[in-house]
Amino acid sequence: MIMPCCGAALDNATILDPDGPTDARPKPGDATICIQCGMWNIYVAGDQARLFGPDDLLEFSDEQLHRLRRATHLIRAMRCAAVRR
Ligand SMILES: [Zn+2]
Repeated sequence: MIMPCCGAALDNATILDPDGPTDARPKPGDATICIQCGMWNIYVAGDQARLFGPDDLLEFSDEQLHRLRRATHLIRAMRCAAVRR
């Protein structure tokens, strides 16, 4: 899948919800974070994604949004550390 945020080509997914399904097969409406740039996206039909918009915030619980923010922070921290090496 080509991420709409930065054009990164991703072919793998990991689930952040410890109470969610054990397989990482995303379905339309699921949120995804780009491992390349940390932007939030939403899976849509056809194994594609679109950018996460303000209205999408209403579809996720506070706990889910916290996990998304935390994962984004970690991704960006890893990218910054890699650039400094
Ligand atoms: Zn991206």
